[in-house]
Amino acid sequence: MTAEERENNLIASHGCQICRRLGYGITPANIHHVRRCGGKRKYAPKTGLCKIHHQDGPFAVHRGRITFEKHYNVTEWDLAEEAKQLLLAHGMTPTWEKK
Ligand SMILES: [Zn+2]
Ligand SMILES: [Zn+2]
Repeated sequence: MTAEERENNLIASHGCQICRRLGYGITPANIHHVRRCGGKRKYAPKTGLCKIHHQDGPFAVHRGRITFEKHYNVTEWDLAEEAKQLLLAHGMTPTWEKK
């Protein structure tokens, strides 16, 4: 398994970060990349989000970041920081910080 895969698995296994904040517990999550303007995907910080909070729900991040951030009172960068801390706590350096 590559470092990339181990990282994705760890983030996903901790569930959707919004669901966790809302007290829904650990729900199945996929990796969402926080894209900087013109930035490479490889260096995009990652977050874990369920289908509803990622793409399907009315306030899903892919329907509009501003609405998502206002509705859930958190920024993508807050979530990325949280994911980073999770990796560090497991002795892993986020791949997006390895340049
Ligand atoms: Zn969720
Ligand atoms: Zn995404």
